[in-house]
Parts: sequence; C-alpha cells; structure tokens
Amino acid sequence: MTPLADILHKRIALTGPLTLADYMAECLLHPEHGYYTTAPVFGAAGDFVTAPEISQMFGELLGLALAQGWLDQGAPHGAVLAEAGPGRGTLMADMLRAMRPIPGLPDAFDIRLIEASARLRDLQRDAVSPYPAQWMNRIGDLPDAPLYFIANEFLDALPIRQFQRAADGWREHVIFSEEGAFRSSFAAPVPVPDLDYRLADTHPGEIVELCPALPALVTELAERIARNGGMAVFIDYGNWRSRGDTLQALQEHAPVDPFKSPGRADLTAHVDFEAIARAAASAGAATSSLIAQGVLLERLGITQRAQALARAMPDSAALENHIAAHRRLTHPQEMGSLFKAIAIHPDGTAPPPGFET
Ligand code: SAH
Repeated sequence: MTPLADILHKRIALTGPLTLADYMAECLLHPEHGYYTTAPVFGAAGDFVTAPEISQMFGELLGLALAQGWLDQGAPHGAVLAEAGPGRGTLMADMLRAMRPIPGLPDAFDIRLIEASARLRDLQRDAVSPYPAQWMNRIGDLPDAPLYFIANEFLDALPIRQFQRAADGWREHVIFSEEGAFRSSFAAPVPVPDLDYRLADTHPGEIVELCPALPALVTELAERIARNGGMAVFIDYGNWRSRGDTLQALQEHAPVDPFKSPGRADLTAHVDFEAIARAAASAGAATSSLIAQGVLLERLGITQRAQALARAMPDSAALENHIAAHRRLTHPQEMGSLFKAIAIHPDGTAPPPGFET
C-alpha cells in the first residue's frame, strides 16, 4: 500500500467516502505524497510527454502568437506574461527565447508562474533563467495589469467530480474503503443546480463531469483581461461539453487503475471547454471558437518553422525525430485533434493570431 493509500483509508474511516475531486486532489497535490509533489518527471523518462517536451516549435509559435497579440493591443506597459502549471518550464523557456528578436521583448513582460509544486518551481527557475520570474499559488494572486496568459495541460490536472444522471437528480461518484481497497459507488440522487442545464441533453445512466475549480479560476482571468486587456490561451485535451467518464491514470506511459496506487500515477480528466467559455462570458470577456491543436499550429506556421529547423539538423536520426515530432503535434491521429485550444480576449478586440475564425 502506498503511504497515501494508508492516509486516505484512515480519512475515509473517520469522515466517510471521498468525492472523486477530493481523491484526485490528494493524489495529485498532497504536500508529502502527491504525484506532482514527489514523482513527476515529464518527458521520455516520465509518465507522459507533453507538447512542449516533444518539440521546441510548440513554445516558439505560441510565444510569438502572444507577443503579436501584445503588439496588436498597442504593446501595453507593465504587461504580465503568465503561465499556469508550467511543468519543467520548457514552454515558457521556448516562448521567451522566440520573443528575443522582437524589440523590447521579453524584458517588457513581468513574468509570473503559477505552480503548486516546490520541486517543479526549482526546475522552472532553471529553465527560464536568465529571465526573472515570480511564482504564485493562484491565478487570483496575479497583478492587476494587462495579462498575456498561457496554460498547456493545466486544466486537465484539476480535480473533477463525476455524476450519474438518475431519474430524479444526480448520483455522485464517491470512493469508499473496503478490506484495504478503494471501491467506487454512486451516492443517493440529489439535485445539483450547476448541472440543471444538462438535464436537457442527458439521459438517466449517463455520466457527466464538473471541474469545481475551473469557473472561479477562468473568471479571475477573464475579469482581468476584460478590465486591463491581454489574452489567455488554454490548450488541453477535451471537448465542448463534458460527456462520459474521462478519468485517466497514467504510470510509465501506460494506463493504470486510478484507485490502485494513489500518488504514484498521474490522474487527469478531459477539459470541458464549454465551461471555460461560460465562465469567460459571465466575466464580460469574449472567447474564440474551439480549434484543434493541429489547426492552430499550422496557422501559426509550424510547417515553415519545421522546414527551417530541418535544414540545421546534424544527422538523419535527428531529422527523423524532428519529422516525427512535427507529426505528433499536428496529425489528427496523434495530438492534432485530441488536443484543442481556446482563447479569451477582451470583447470587441481580435483574438490572438491563429484563433481567427
Ligand atoms: N504545462 C506543462 C506541465 C503539465 S502537468 C507541460 O505542458 O509540460 C500539470 C502542471 O500543473 C504541473 O506543473 C503541476 O504541478 C501543476 N499543477 C497541477 N495542479 C495545480 C494547481 N492546483 N495549482 C497550481 N499548479 C498546479
């Protein structure tokens, strides 16, 4: 049994079954035994590989898109460049490097990183050096200034609750403890006001998910953007409107039982992009349409960038890797369609480059 499993069994014995969100939060962020606190190695040796770790092109193109967005908005003074959940810091490092040819950048940006894990903060500090950055715990801690924000595979790490539609309400997925193992069940049906709008498009027996932290977090961002200018880009896997059980546990690149060894596997769920758009709209900001990662990267010029980099590859093995990375990021059967992107921007202004309809 992992140390965290022991802690969770005792907690359930004392206070009753856990919601899936409670379980996920402990597994990912427990201060001693959480996945992001202890284990994480991203990249080939880790449990999963993210887009910025696949190729430098990902961060370069997105960095230039945000920089162009800043220029298009009149290069506002005192602007913040922020990333949530920066992992190893590769995306931010690639963005900053790509901005260097633009006069005034990246020095004009006040760089802020939102990261829960102290261990990852250390990696990020090394990655973004020599640029100064400041770390914060929450999006609400960001300064009240024009904000150029990005998050890749951040929202999928936020805990979700799952509900099964019943004839007379919603039954929440809860986790209880039985003979030293975690078991799932669905609690008695109750009304869930946040899911009222799903009564029209679901049937009894169907599962939907809610990410309780998402609306407040997006509202904080969108209010700042509506008030001060800027833009936010979210890239993640998911869809418009949650449907079905999308909880996934990965350990050493292979799917595992999410309830088997808490704290040892990465737990994620698909992002409901409609929830992002709803929160942004309620805060008075606009959202772009939802687009596939592959389409976004093509629009931002990944093929031209790939060709330029290909000419500098030292040998055929490096070239083959580079071609595979381009394909992985953009091809519909790889990350190109599964991953999607959405942007938040002030009402009445253009979305960031790549997000135009
Ligand atoms: N964006 C990176 C890493 C994604 S993994 C990449 O693309 O490679 C998720 C990241 O979010 C990790 O850095 C993790 O520590 C961080 N994280 C997860 N939950 C968080 C929370 N509630 N607050 C702040 N950071 C969080």
